[in-house]
Parts: sequence; structure tokens; C-alpha cells
Amino acid sequence: MATVCITDLDSTGILELVTGLGEPSYRAAQLEQWTYHGLASSFDEMTNLPKQFRHRLAQDCRLHTLRPVDELVDRRGTVKTLFALADGETVESTLMTYSAGKGRSRYTVCVSTQVGCPIGCPFCATGQQGFVRNLSRGEIVDQVLYFGRYLRDQGNGGRDDSTPPAGHITNVVFMGMGEPLANYDTLWKAITTLNAPEAFGLGARSMVISTAGLAPQIRRLSRERLQVGLAVSLHAADNALRTELVPVNRRYPLEQLLSACLEYVQRTGRRLSFEYVLFAGINDSIRHARLLASLLGGLDCHVNLIPANLTADSSFRAPTRDAVLAFHSELRNRRVRCTLRQARGLAIDAGCGQLRSRYAAYAPGREQLQPGDGGL
Ligand code: SAH
Ligand code: SF4
Repeated sequence: MATVCITDLDSTGILELVTGLGEPSYRAAQLEQWTYHGLASSFDEMTNLPKQFRHRLAQDCRLHTLRPVDELVDRRGTVKTLFALADGETVESTLMTYSAGKGRSRYTVCVSTQVGCPIGCPFCATGQQGFVRNLSRGEIVDQVLYFGRYLRDQGNGGRDDSTPPAGHITNVVFMGMGEPLANYDTLWKAITTLNAPEAFGLGARSMVISTAGLAPQIRRLSRERLQVGLAVSLHAADNALRTELVPVNRRYPLEQLLSACLEYVQRTGRRLSFEYVLFAGINDSIRHARLLASLLGGLDCHVNLIPANLTADSSFRAPTRDAVLAFHSELRNRRVRCTLRQARGLAIDAGCGQLRSRYAAYAPGREQLQPGDGGL
């Protein structure tokens, strides 16, 4: 039987574990506090728990699901970490540091939600690795806790009375490996844990889910209580091209996708973002910019333009600087709110799935599905 992991449990699960081990129920709150507020890395650090109980926990359970196996840091403070999971699979996460003025920084963690991805976008390193499995609640949450500890240990995120519950992590974006909305239930459990004041305590508005465009799940998201942000990876404004770039478009073409987006905006009163990655000679012409402007006309949204970040063996090419600027100004002239986003971490292969693809041999013996497999 697999060893139970604390971050895979919700508050009720922790309570059952604690009382099942014969301890009073208030110890559950202490254990939860140490895990999320205290960012403990071992049961031994939980000094207000009796030594016997800590020993028992260490014997019967694990505190975290992840083991860091590689880390790359660049000069701007972007940290990319490859984690091994209990079954030998690997995922990666990135910590990005931004200046927030007055000497303060913002810390954004980019989190993976699956091992591989079932969507199979041809430009994406993760998509090319095929789909392996969904991550668990703990495997998702632990990526954030890891960087909370990382910042604390660097002296940036020390906990004291003035420290917010979430330490110094200011944002979490679900834009790492995998399609978050294809692992909806577990993603939502992880978000609930990250948000709960008694757990990690990060505001829902500080989290953003990025999706390839699963229309029914977008509709479901619009009915959730927590105000988590949404980014939709569009990349093309006509169905034929989008089906090539984001194959799930065959299942949920633009009409269905945009009608789900409209429902999201109307129900939540929140603006959503569209991600548009520019590829040379494919979707980066003025004609494409006009098509995009007319597709989005009337929808309360924001477009993030991102020049493609490609691995050496990709058949896609990055756009020229001129093409990017021309595309940007065409959208602005047509009153589309948009920003040009700098890809972060290029120097350390921080693009989606690129570190992991170097470690493809790390988990021998698992069946590799083909891109596009995985039931979607
Ligand atoms: N599966 C989700 C979230 C993970 S991918 C989604 O597709 O939205 C996060 C973002 O990285 C997406 O917008 C995706 O299109 C983008 N991306 C993937 N490969 C890229 C590449 N080579 N260059 C630039 N952006 C890329
Ligand atoms: Fe999956 Fe997103 Fe990569 Fe497409 S871009 S393969 S949806 S992770």
C-alpha cells in the first residue's frame, strides 16, 4: 500500500489520520499549520507535537510528495526545478521574480498539473512527450510549498507576524506541464488548499489557470465560488489553423470556446486573458492580427502576445522582432487590449516541459503514449 502523504489530504483527512493514531483532534490543526504556514520540511521540526507522535508520523506517513532532482537558476532569479514523484515520474516548476517597485519583489510560481499532456500541441515540449498521468493534490500543492521554503531559506520569505499567510509567494499560475482543466477535480482540491486561510492562505485572485480551451470545464469554472483567474491559449483565430496548433480545437472549435468564454465573463464579471504565441510564417502576419481583433471584438478580455520559445529540434520558428511589433500595434489600433510578454527563463530552458524532456530517460519502464492520446 502506498504511504499516505499529508499534502494529499484535506483537513478532514488530516483529522482522521490524527485521531486514528490515537491523538487528540487539536493536533490536526497543529499538523496542518506546520505543513502550510510553517512550511516544515520534516515532522521533526513540528516542535509542539509530542516526540512520540512525530516519530509515529515519520514512520507511517510522508510530509511531502516531491523530491527535487535538478535545479537551474538564471541571473534574473528565475529558478527551474525538476521534481521526482514517488513513482519515478518527473515534473518541473518555475519560480519567477519580478520587481514590484520600492525595493519589493513579486514571486510567481508556475505549477504543473499533469505528467505530460493529452492535448499534444506540436510546438510544445510537454505535448510532444505524450500523456502519462494526472498529478495528485499533494503533488500540485507541494510545488508551491517547495518554493515557499526556497524563498524562506534564502532569507526572502521568513515567517514572522508581518508575513502574509502565503509567505512571500504572491502568485501561482497553472501554466506548467499539462492541461489543468483535464485534471479538474484534483486541480480544484489543490486550489482550495492553497487558498484556505488555515492552509496556505493565498488569495484566489492571485491564481491563474491556463487552458488549451476545454469549453465544458470553462463553463464549470464560471460557476465556482473562488475568483481564480483564467487564461485561454488561443494561438489562432480560425478553426483550421487552431486545430493544427491546438488539436483539442477539433473537439471544441472556436464558436464553442468563445461562447464558453462569454459565459465565464458574464457569470463572474471578470475579464479573461487570451495567450497568443507567435510563430514565424504561421500565425504572425497582419492578416492574422486583423482576424484575431475581429474574433475578440466585444469580449471583455486581454491578449498576451508571446514570441515562441523553441527547442533546437522544433520545426517551428520564432517570429522576427518586426513581425511581433507590427502584430502588437495592429491589435492596439483595433482597440484590443494587449501586452507583449517577455518569455522568462529562456537561458535555462524554462519553456514548458523543456527541462523534463532532457530527462526522458529518468523514469525507465513506463509506457509512453503518443501525443494526442489520453482520452481527449
Ligand atoms: N496546457 C495549458 C497550460 C500549460 S502550457 C495551456 O496550453 O494553456 C502554458 C502556456 O505555454 C500555453 O499558453 C502554451 O501555449 C505555452 N507554450 C507551450 N509551448 C510553448 C513554446 N514553445 N513557446 C511559447 N509558449 C509555449
Ligand atoms: Fe498541453 Fe498546454 Fe503543451 Fe498544449 S501547450 S501540449 S495543452 S501543456
